[in-house]
Amino acid sequence: MPDAIRLPLPERWRRLWFPPPALSQRLLTDFRVRIAVCLMLLAPMSLGFWMVDWILDPDGAQRTLILKLPFLVTIVLGLAVLKERRPWVVGLIEILVLVANLVCDSLALLWLSVDFTVGLGSYTVYYFFSLFMLPGLPLVWTVLTVLVIPLVPLGMALAGWLPGFPFLLFCMTTVPLSVCALILMVFATRATHMRYDLEQQLEAASNTDPLTGVSNRRRFMPALSIELQRAQRQHLPLAVLILDIDHFKNINDQYGHFVGDGVICRLAQLCSEGLRSFDLVARMGGEEFALLLPGTDLTAALAVAERLRQQTAALSMADDRGRVFSFTVSIGVAVLAPDDDALSLLTRADKALYQAKQDGRNRVRVSADGGSAAGQGELFLESVSPRS
Ligand code: GH3
Ligand code: MG
Ligand code: MG
Repeated sequence: MPDAIRLPLPERWRRLWFPPPALSQRLLTDFRVRIAVCLMLLAPMSLGFWMVDWILDPDGAQRTLILKLPFLVTIVLGLAVLKERRPWVVGLIEILVLVANLVCDSLALLWLSVDFTVGLGSYTVYYFFSLFMLPGLPLVWTVLTVLVIPLVPLGMALAGWLPGFPFLLFCMTTVPLSVCALILMVFATRATHMRYDLEQQLEAASNTDPLTGVSNRRRFMPALSIELQRAQRQHLPLAVLILDIDHFKNINDQYGHFVGDGVICRLAQLCSEGLRSFDLVARMGGEEFALLLPGTDLTAALAVAERLRQQTAALSMADDRGRVFSFTVSIGVAVLAPDDDALSLLTRADKALYQAKQDGRNRVRVSADGGSAAGQGELFLESVSPRS
């Protein structure tokens, strides 16, 4: 069962009212067009209501036309919502448009020579609009909406501005509608939150290696491209390390696959420890890992690689029968050269790894064809590689 469904009830309620900014933003992105279209449709709907006015009372309709024309502004507001990124601004626009509509509709009913009860249906239309657009906003806007729809005409009537207002009939229509709308909106808003949570979980799962919990190749490759572009744009160094467990097949054969899995997990843990928040560790497949180190030059990358090599060699593993063993890794290092792309950088790191294997394993090698920096690394490596 997904975590989203297992959230405790108070937490679920709190999130409906106060969604985290990322969730608010995402919901607004999903519902933005729908909210904008609803707002814009209020303009022709308002003119449509005027045609009803005209059928009911052609003389009175000449006066009520002035109450409908301002709603052409909702077209502009709808267009503004298409660009607006702040959910509270969109909520505010929705409430203001609603209040203005309700005031004008109520006055229109007053100015017409018809009974108020004839126009009660027009109020209910706003519930329909709200149901359609509000799952994209925090629940606070829903509650404000279901309060505003009945309270604006009621407030005007209580202030004495709407003589002959049918209080009882109005309350009998709007109170049950408000309650129903609120219940439906809680479910609809909750459903949008759950869908968002599930999408997040799916995205995280698709980018995560299930055995070790570190990133996988699917996450690594786009991250490499992004960091590479950033490094080239800002003239910053960038390093890639590829690690491969030495003679891993022997570990599997000797201690079994479950122990082999444990070794892979322990190496993933070691790689993740001590890295900066913007570094990335990924399991590229089998017993091979890649590290993406933004802002890291050759000297620093070699220091990281050598530390990992030594720490791995110092690890002590045991199988379920108490047999103790250790393992080593070979590491290929490449730093970004001016003419590199993601593939060439990765290929150079891979070649350096191959060289490390060729040279006897349990050592660090740097790409030889990475420009002047690589030459520097070779000199440095002479002093850090263990004697075989
Ligand atoms: P080298 O030093 O040249 O890297 O030798 P090696 O034995 O490590 O390399 P090789 O590629 O021959 O063997 C890798 C082995 O890793 C083969 C495969 O069965 C094993 N392997 C791949 N994925 C997993 C996994 O998820 N769990 C376990 N336990 N073994 C795996
Ligand atoms: Mg290997
Ligand atoms: Mg391998």
